[in-house]
Amino acid sequence: MQIIINHVAISTRQGDITAWQGDMIVNASNSGLFGGGGVDGAIHRAGGPQIAEACAEIRHKQGGILPGEAAVTNAGNLPFLGIIHTVGPIWKGGAAGEAAILAKCYSSSLEAACRRGAVSVAFPNISTGVYNFPKVLACQTALNSVIEYIKERDSGGLPLKRIEFICYEKDNAQLYEEMLHGFA
Ligand code: ADP
Repeated sequence: MQIIINHVAISTRQGDITAWQGDMIVNASNSGLFGGGGVDGAIHRAGGPQIAEACAEIRHKQGGILPGEAAVTNAGNLPFLGIIHTVGPIWKGGAAGEAAILAKCYSSSLEAACRRGAVSVAFPNISTGVYNFPKVLACQTALNSVIEYIKERDSGGLPLKRIEFICYEKDNAQLYEEMLHGFA
């Protein structure tokens, strides 16, 4: 499923983000930028120790990153221009600003991608693993944030041409398919 907004193609597919082909991928990291489980573990395993070394540098320089923020490292052995590490909110029931923080993860990652001149970027389903964010709300938040980001900018000035949501789990893949249809 693909939609085009302001000359940017937004699509989704089921798969492993480390095997994606494009400029930059986003990692659902943690505030200390320590490699963990889930997609974070998969990216660190596939990319090798160079990514963890770059994360350690960021940690030493600025003490990690806050939920909603993004930081860029090299991609180690992975064939990307870089990895964008963002920290999703831990779901605590919804009254702690979780949706706004999740929306910011997507916009700050796109900001980081544009700063590096990335033409294409892939997102995992941030916070929907161990951080336990409800999947329907996470999907709505992700799509709304990305679409708002693109609409608010002059597409001529945006390097980005392709944004893809890589869903590891079947239920997320179906959700994204359905919700993207709603925007078509
Ligand atoms: P969080 O702590 O932000 O919840 P997780 O890594 O636990 O991060 O989960 C985020 C999402 O990433 C989940 O939907 C999970 O299924 C997915 N995921 C796990 N491994 C991969 C992978 N290799 N590629 C893409 N997505 C993945």
